[in-house]
Amino acid sequence: MSEENKQPQTEGVVAVGSKELLAARREIGKKERAKHPNMGWCHRCGRPWNIVHGHATDYVKGRACFPLCDECWSELTPVTRLPYYRQLWMEWEAFGCNEPEETWVAIETSVMQGG
Ligand SMILES: [Zn+2]
Repeated sequence: MSEENKQPQTEGVVAVGSKELLAARREIGKKERAKHPNMGWCHRCGRPWNIVHGHATDYVKGRACFPLCDECWSELTPVTRLPYYRQLWMEWEAFGCNEPEETWVAIETSVMQGG
């Protein structure tokens, strides 16, 4: 039997690695946000949109929102992504955007469908 067959499953290793990466990303996010206070940022790692690309989630024709960067989005499942979208929604509410509840339902549906 070769050594290769005795390797532990890699899934756990990947998860630990990505957590460390996230902590590093958050450090970068903190520094970059201080330099660009008016720019939006990823709600998970905190890196602003001048250094990362936001994952656009289309929820109604011609409209998309992006609370997460591509990297953070790809590390999460629809269920674990949803709180970040809800957080963005709450911010819209706080700033008085007065979006109808149907808009949230459309966002939630799109996220759960993998959008
Ligand atoms: Zn991110």
